[in-house]
Amino acid sequence: MVGNVPVGGDAPVSVQSMTTTVTADINATLQQIAELTASGCQIVRVAVPSQDDAEALPIIAKKSQIPVIADIHFQPKYVFAAIDAGCAAVRVNPGNIKKFDDKVGEIAKAAADAGTPIRIGVNAGSLDPRLLQKYGKATPEALVESALWECSLFEEHGFRDIKISVKHNDPVVMINAYRLLAQRCDYPLHLGVTEAGPAFQGTIKSAVAFGALLAEGIGDTIRVSLSAPPVEEVKVGAQILESLGLRERGLEIVSCPSCGRAQVDVYTLAEQVQAGLEGMKVPLRVAVMGCVVNGPGEAREADLGVASGNGKGQIFVKGEVIKTVPESQIVETLIKEAMRIADEMGVEIDLDDDAPGPQVTVAR
Ligand code: SF4
Repeated sequence: MVGNVPVGGDAPVSVQSMTTTVTADINATLQQIAELTASGCQIVRVAVPSQDDAEALPIIAKKSQIPVIADIHFQPKYVFAAIDAGCAAVRVNPGNIKKFDDKVGEIAKAAADAGTPIRIGVNAGSLDPRLLQKYGKATPEALVESALWECSLFEEHGFRDIKISVKHNDPVVMINAYRLLAQRCDYPLHLGVTEAGPAFQGTIKSAVAFGALLAEGIGDTIRVSLSAPPVEEVKVGAQILESLGLRERGLEIVSCPSCGRAQVDVYTLAEQVQAGLEGMKVPLRVAVMGCVVNGPGEAREADLGVASGNGKGQIFVKGEVIKTVPESQIVETLIKEAMRIADEMGVEIDLDDDAPGPQVTVAR
């Protein structure tokens, strides 16, 4: 358990992110955690580089709506502070915690007494110098050896409440590292492509790497690392899980890519429907199709859909044509019908700006 979130075994895969505020700024940090929570984040990590940050942890851990993991580099004393503060877990980086190995016994005891799990978070950019020397660079073997060595130190003290990550910025190295790790141990694994880059590149790298691993059953928590606001990381993480069927799908828009047969502006139509339903937390599939080739079929398969043609749109609900409307009324009709279906499902409609947007699937 990380706080009240089960991790590992048959537990659902959870989405994590990390705050970008100065942790010592308690209000700003709690505000960002609230935004992340609203976006679907289930576990949040905060950086603890200073004494001021460590002193902020008790309030943040108490007031956060989701479990808080303290991220500790360099200073073992902050590990004890985080455990005392009631953090749901502590992440330590074996590569850069100086004199850490001498402290493992004490940390293991404090963590065990408090029931606080430890994440051993190996990162290619801060690999233990001994392993860097041995392997020449951060290879999958080096990352895994570093993690398992650190685990063995905790295990010597009977401590096994551990989660591991072996992050690398190259998805191929990262995938191989996690595969190797999954063969060599049975601990829950936290997946991450570290320093994955700006939003577009980082999204692709993370989706590719997580998709490969999660499809093999490897991975228990995920963090998408983007050079973008953390809410974006959470949206991407949630969409990856939804795409793999590992999290209940929310609103999904199936829209065609358009082609020379399109009799309507599909891009604008799909964007308007997406914007109109932004934040709708309903497991609803809405098809927006440009012509009659695949339109009626996709629209019939969806909960709700439109097949366009000749300046009109046939509106489908649960496979039945319920009406035909002029093109200018397609968007408002779809939105009205989506809200009616959500209401029938007894789902609260919360069209707030912070909620994750719907998924757009391009049908071919
Ligand atoms: S439904 Fe298919 S054939 Fe029709 S406009 Fe869209 S992409 Fe083209």
